[in-house]
Amino acid sequence: MRLSRFYMPVLKDIPSEAQIVSHRLMLRAGMVRQQGAGIYAWLPLGQRVLNKIANIVREEQNRAGAVEMLMPTIQQADLWRESGRYDDYGKEMLRITDRHEREMLYGPTNEEMITELVRASVKSYRQLPLILYHIQWKFRDEIRPRFGVMRGREFLMKDAYSFDVDEAGARRAYDKMFLAYLNTFARMGLTAVPMRADTGPIGGDLSHEFIILAETGESQVFCDRDLLELAPPGPDLDWDGDLRALVAARTALYAATEEMHDSAKFAAQTPKERQVSARGIEVGHIFYFGDKYSKAMQAMITGPDGQDRPAQMGSYGIGVSRLIGAIIEANHDEAGMIWPEAVAPFGIGLINLRVGDSACDSACAQAYAALTAAGREPLYDDTAERPGAKFSVMDLIGLPKQLIIGPKGLAAGTVEIKDRRSGEREELSLDAALNRLCANG
Ligand code: ATP
Ligand code: MG
Repeated sequence: MRLSRFYMPVLKDIPSEAQIVSHRLMLRAGMVRQQGAGIYAWLPLGQRVLNKIANIVREEQNRAGAVEMLMPTIQQADLWRESGRYDDYGKEMLRITDRHEREMLYGPTNEEMITELVRASVKSYRQLPLILYHIQWKFRDEIRPRFGVMRGREFLMKDAYSFDVDEAGARRAYDKMFLAYLNTFARMGLTAVPMRADTGPIGGDLSHEFIILAETGESQVFCDRDLLELAPPGPDLDWDGDLRALVAARTALYAATEEMHDSAKFAAQTPKERQVSARGIEVGHIFYFGDKYSKAMQAMITGPDGQDRPAQMGSYGIGVSRLIGAIIEANHDEAGMIWPEAVAPFGIGLINLRVGDSACDSACAQAYAALTAAGREPLYDDTAERPGAKFSVMDLIGLPKQLIIGPKGLAAGTVEIKDRRSGEREELSLDAALNRLCANG
């Protein structure tokens, strides 16, 4: 992409409403623009990161055996009357009336709709297990939308729903999602700690929140420091193997959110030097809730014994848009964002220090073509800005590598590679630079 043809409205002034660094940086870099309290337009730079994150989530859901679909954002109130949640959900639900005076709502979550879809065609245990998911916008009329996309009113969520004939099957679905989540967050460069959590309005009795430790987190959390060192199960995980043991190994140490915290238990289970009490950002939440919805909505399954029983269900959410804020909170410095490779909006920032100079222009054209062909997604700053401004914008948007090409270097036969995270710069020939950067894809 050529910067001169891209749309990235960088702001000079830091917007005063932005209280935390990720919100400030996203506004400054022109990733999002507020369209109302907790409602954001995703500008091209933000949209690219959103897509990268959604794709990682999708790949890891698919790997765990979940199947993608897409449900609408607008739902019928009657569906929610069947479960009893139409009245229970309260003011967080945005209620709408259509031209026929029918009551509708903008979905805050999809347990009812998926239960209705599955009960229509799944009748026998032979059709199970089943895990269905979608990545779709949600609306919750949050009492305090804040921190930019971290607590929006409209936000993008991956929500999965599992259906099983018995509790053992449902446990297995829960374990699959638990392990898939660890791999998902690890691929984004995040250490997410699963913590025992309260089940809230979704209901049920088994639940974990996946928490990233960060000073700006909204939740108070408590955990054993050793959990921060545990490796994720990784891509070679055998999904047909003993998942229970893998989950058990990751839930043996103490980790709980404030609502579930028991300080006596924490002290008894965790040596003092390993006790972490910190702020955390919730990036995912999984629940096993048994027959809460299937019973109320009559989603019945015939078991091997010929008896009908309500399906055993769970639901599994990931805050796709919130993750962008969480990743920035965990990866930035004074100059701006520092994207982990896997979610960076572009792979390399190519800076032409003197546009119009024929040596610079042709070296940049060669670099741009080679990097593009190698799938390295370069963002080519071909604008007429002065070098200082180019450097600060490139640092602000935090692409992992920069390739800097200027007249002085070219005269001496060199270009420069800068690593955004370490700040290390290296001078080398254009060919050597391209070999290095193209290989590193
Ligand atoms: P929270 O306690 O932060 O309000 P929740 O328990 O209500 O979250 P879930 O219903 O479990 O959230 O939703 C799944 C995921 O969606 C959460 O883990 C979070 O990452 C994300 N999420 C929830 N509410 C918001 C929001 N208002 N803005 C952005 N992301 C959100
Ligand atoms: Mg909430």
